[in-house]
Amino acid sequence: MPEERPYLTGRTYLFRLNKGEDLLEQLQEFCHNNQVKCATLNAIGAVSAATFSFFDQKKKKYVKVHKEEELEILNLTGNVSLMDDKPMVHAHITLAGENGAAIGGHMMQGCTVYACEVFMQELVGEPKIRKSDKAAGLLLWINPQLKPR
Ligand code: ZN
Repeated sequence: MPEERPYLTGRTYLFRLNKGEDLLEQLQEFCHNNQVKCATLNAIGAVSAATFSFFDQKKKKYVKVHKEEELEILNLTGNVSLMDDKPMVHAHITLAGENGAAIGGHMMQGCTVYACEVFMQELVGEPKIRKSDKAAGLLLWINPQLKPR
């Protein structure tokens, strides 16, 4: 494991998202507008449509799932880091319909907000940088630079 420096907590936000608009886009926009570069977040609420995906590790690609129905957001957990110098939200979502059975995955554009309450905790320190990791086929955090000997 590479050496990690601890973060200090920065600004703490609690806000709601607009009905009828895209969930991921609104989170991205919030980070961009407030210059949040490093954070953790969670949210609860409901959507009227959802799009998420499952990463197929053998084929190294995302398999997309779209649900055009009313669903509760049981949990949305994610983080904010920098990709190409811009804040990028990475979040996973757990949803349930009328029967209460949970579905979910890697949250994508295409989740339409019915209602959503977000908690976001900014972290102050060296922002995480996300880059394409060829071996994994994913956009992952690059490890901190090792000190020169
Ligand atoms: Zn993911």
